[in-house]
Amino acid sequence: MFSISKIFTLIIILLAITFIFKILSKKRKPSKVKDPKNLDVSKCPSCGVWTSEKICTNNNCPFDN
Ligand SMILES: [Zn+2]
Repeated sequence: MFSISKIFTLIIILLAITFIFKILSKKRKPSKVKDPKNLDVSKCPSCGVWTSEKICTNNNCPFDN
């Protein structure tokens, strides 16, 4: 017997799993994979985070204004 609440719960769980996998896959992939040509990395003088971008990509960077 199908229950709407059970199906709804199942959909929520599947969405949650998909969401978690998306976050994990984003964290695993370094920024170099997106742009293989850009291998030049620089260290931010303020927060010490290595980034391939000209601007520091650290959200908690004190230098970011
Ligand atoms: Zn920084």
